[in-house]
Amino acid sequence: MHDICTSCFGRLPDDSPRTGCEACEYRLHTWLRELPRHLPLLQDMLRPDTGPAQRGAAGRAIAPLPVRLDVLDLLGPGQPVLLADPHGDQTGGVPMTPLLYGWARYLTADADVPVARRDAHGTIHTSRCEGPWLRGGADVPRLCRWLDAYLPYAATRPWWDDFYEQMEQLLDRVQRLTHTRPLTRAMDAPCPRCAGWSLVEKEDELGISCTLCAARLTPDEYAAHRAQVMPALAALTLNMITPKAAAEAAA
Ligand SMILES: [Zn+2]
Ligand SMILES: [Zn+2]
Repeated sequence: MHDICTSCFGRLPDDSPRTGCEACEYRLHTWLRELPRHLPLLQDMLRPDTGPAQRGAAGRAIAPLPVRLDVLDLLGPGQPVLLADPHGDQTGGVPMTPLLYGWARYLTADADVPVARRDAHGTIHTSRCEGPWLRGGADVPRLCRWLDAYLPYAATRPWWDDFYEQMEQLLDRVQRLTHTRPLTRAMDAPCPRCAGWSLVEKEDELGISCTLCAARLTPDEYAAHRAQVMPALAALTLNMITPKAAAEAAA
């Protein structure tokens, strides 16, 4: 039984079966929804902007590389990570499809769900499930949807943080290539824990988080906190700018 989230070290509710908290599960859910949206752009980027062929020393035209290797590194085929050692840093360079498929297989094996199959004589055979069954094949959008559906289960498993971390790294590699980052909005009330003006609301987050300390607030908690501290802060600011007007207002 865990009492803190293995990804963000935030407190879990008492007697929770979780290893990953609700906020981290939500974040991973937005990442799995976002990943397939980068595919068209990545596929476009696969072909480099080819300039005119350059003349080599012998007078022959030298063709530039036909693909961008950094993009191919993400889109190409490859071997999934060896999940027997999930604490090793093995994700670097593993393309998207094998990485996602590797996790889907690992999850299926971990869940130990037997598959039932009826033969021609009507006899039911059950066997161990070898991998996720995906109608139409295991491509990135299907794998992301499949993994997304199993997130509530994944967030109770001891390997949750490895899954979370590898998906975070995968999305980071994709975003660095496509130059996209989730939108972040700065909040106007100070952090209740460290008092920094450092609370932000991110597009891929369930709540509001501090960029300086580990404070996290739900939208309701933030609204209550803001309603409590802002009138006093506004009065203080007014006092600093025009002490006389503040004294008059207080009288
Ligand atoms: Zn968490
Ligand atoms: Zn803080």
